[in-house]
Amino acid sequence: MSLEVVKQRSRGFICVNAHPAGCRENVRQQIRTITSGSRRADAGPKNVIVVGSSTGYGLASRIAAAWGSGARTLGIFFERSPEGRKTATAGYYNNVALHEFAKADGLFAASINGDAFTDDVKRSAVQIVRQQMSPVDLVIYSLAAPKRTDPASGEVHNSVLKPIGEAYSSKSIDLSTGKVIHVTIPPADEKEIADTVAVMGGDDWRLWMELLLKEGLLAEGAQTIAYSYIGPELTWPIYRAGTVGRAKEDLERTARELNSLLKSNVGGEALISINKAVVTQASAAIPVVPLYMSTLLRVMGMKGVDEEPIDQMRRLFADYLTDGRKGALDSEGRIRLDDREMRPEIQSDVAARWAQLETENLATLADFEGYTRRFRNLFGFDVPGVNYEEPVEIDVGW
Ligand code: NAD
Repeated sequence: MSLEVVKQRSRGFICVNAHPAGCRENVRQQIRTITSGSRRADAGPKNVIVVGSSTGYGLASRIAAAWGSGARTLGIFFERSPEGRKTATAGYYNNVALHEFAKADGLFAASINGDAFTDDVKRSAVQIVRQQMSPVDLVIYSLAAPKRTDPASGEVHNSVLKPIGEAYSSKSIDLSTGKVIHVTIPPADEKEIADTVAVMGGDDWRLWMELLLKEGLLAEGAQTIAYSYIGPELTWPIYRAGTVGRAKEDLERTARELNSLLKSNVGGEALISINKAVVTQASAAIPVVPLYMSTLLRVMGMKGVDEEPIDQMRRLFADYLTDGRKGALDSEGRIRLDDREMRPEIQSDVAARWAQLETENLATLADFEGYTRRFRNLFGFDVPGVNYEEPVEIDVGW
């Protein structure tokens, strides 16, 4: 037992602790978003694995699968547990809450807290699936990781967020001071590009799917989806045309290969979903992108079309994963949940504001305040309805 009053602690912009009650409230709200909409518990996927399920898009995917379709879910993630008076990470507390609510609602949930890139974690997943949730009809791959140890060679790959070919200079935001600054990011070398592809590309996704197939654990018609991003031209040098974009190209190539593999073996399919830019721990680490997102938040908010991860996942399940496919694919066969972000009128408004952005007009042209609030929310802070003066148990588990 360790009852504590938990106050936000930060190093620079990053929160180094998390609030269990705030995280619980975030999960509760996401479940409410799903259960308050129309649901087809008889029609969606029934046994679902989510790799990267503790925060961001993976957590929202798992909630949509469990509470929207009544699916049995296995979540895999890499989070720090509580230790003495030190809180766990937010993803850990999100998962504690998810299990609590699943139990109350009679939903099966199993979780593995470990490195998804390792053979050990994959073997544990196979065991759980074989005993409790076979055959699997959906695998969501939603990892965002800074590094990966190659399971065969033992080589450690670190991903970098850099442009390719030439240095990139752009407006950006100093997240700690809220000042608009100019940054120049040097280009990645060949090794950095290859390392980023090894971490964020499709290799590990392929290993997961080949293993599940080999073990005979995939249902007839099983689907797998990985998430990607394209975004507007103003972020291309650092995103789509940069190291992470190279990794996403590899992920998309892997989707085509996995698609053939699943088609010929179980009549299934592999898909890429291009999702909208949202505030997560992963996206905050990308240079320039937080300033773009603050501007996007202002524009989409004003037009009333902004979406959080859970809104995106509700659409993904309703339009693509329940009762056949009702949503369209783009010319390259991808799901486009970024359709609202990429509307010409949204992007031209963002571009016009971007050209004028400076520290003095940041609050009018962009919504940096909203961005930082959402960021604090990720760690369970500043969440409406939570009493932060009250001691909470931080040493909890599922
Ligand atoms: P996130 O940081 O919120 O979540 C990452 C998840 O991966 C967490 O559950 C974390 O525990 C898990 N993880 C990290 N390393 C791991 C490891 N070694 N083993 C097991 N689990 C590990 O990230 P996110 O923004 O939700 O990103 C998820 C995916 O969505 C990524 O592929 C990202 O590129 C994509 N995406 C994100 C955005 C965005 O704006 N955030 C937009 C489009 C697509």
